[in-house]
Amino acid sequence: MPHPPTSPAPRRTPRARRAAVACLLGLMVLALAATGCGRPGSPPVKGPRGSDLPRYPVARNFSLPASPIWRAAARRGRLVVGVKEDQPYLGERDPATGTYSGFDIEIAKMAAAALGFPERSVVFRTIASANRETALQNGQIDLYVGTYTINAKRRRQVGFAGPYYMAGQSLLVRSDEHDIHGPQDLAGKRVCSAAGSTAYQRIRADYPQAVLVAYDTYSVCVDNLLTYQVDAVTTDDAILLGYAAKVPDQLKVVGRPFSREPYGIGVPRGDAPLRFALDDALAAAEKNGSWRAAYDATLGLSGVPAPQPPPIDRYPAG
Ligand code: GLU
Repeated sequence: MPHPPTSPAPRRTPRARRAAVACLLGLMVLALAATGCGRPGSPPVKGPRGSDLPRYPVARNFSLPASPIWRAAARRGRLVVGVKEDQPYLGERDPATGTYSGFDIEIAKMAAAALGFPERSVVFRTIASANRETALQNGQIDLYVGTYTINAKRRRQVGFAGPYYMAGQSLLVRSDEHDIHGPQDLAGKRVCSAAGSTAYQRIRADYPQAVLVAYDTYSVCVDNLLTYQVDAVTTDDAILLGYAAKVPDQLKVVGRPFSREPYGIGVPRGDAPLRFALDDALAAAEKNGSWRAAYDATLGLSGVPAPQPPPIDRYPAG
């Protein structure tokens, strides 16, 4: 799948490059505090702390017989949720324990509880941006919660509950980059994004002068950015702010968001009863404070105070 850069352009001393690579490895194993990537004296990296996370009461005697997905999940006693594993504060997998954490993971737990599934019966499966629709269509997963933009094209293939968050496309560059301030500055620059993402598609359509590079995941793009293989990484601000917060002395998010990315919970297309039950669950969580508490304990740690969640779009079945 990767379409690697054709002409890497190292512009850094070997020592600086080694430091950048060491930092990235730290980023990927989520052990930055121990790698010494920050400047001496920089504060330890913050991460979601279990104690701050809300608990979601599991619905008792819940039943949704009109939903084929819910029926199958109830029969097997497990709800299988597709997520991301390399997006700080959103969907991260701790390689040591296999535990997933982040705002999307909280949304998934909240949704599962509302459908009658306690946390121990939720199985997370990492699915990349390009494979989401297929995974929902072929029954690999029951739901998908991972920075998944609701749009008309995808709605022809899958269903969406929500939105539960509004992001916007943005740009991540190295701290020593001074020429890129927005998408208008991308002509001739190497720009990395995830295959199958709205971010990739928008650059290809609207900024054709950019030299676009695609990988399966954004963490590989960030790796390429830190090692001077690409000049920018583009995707949602929520995702990029997380990477920047992990190595603030090396990376920065620049400019204003240049799209609207409403995040939805993906479900198989025909299952409107499931979609409506999830809309109800999100509405209840927004009302009773657990949405806010989940945000504050996860995505809020990347530095942006909790926004007002966008209105839920309960579009008709069919
Ligand atoms: N929200 C955008 C999308 O759904 C970009 C983030 C992602 O790839 O998950 O395509």
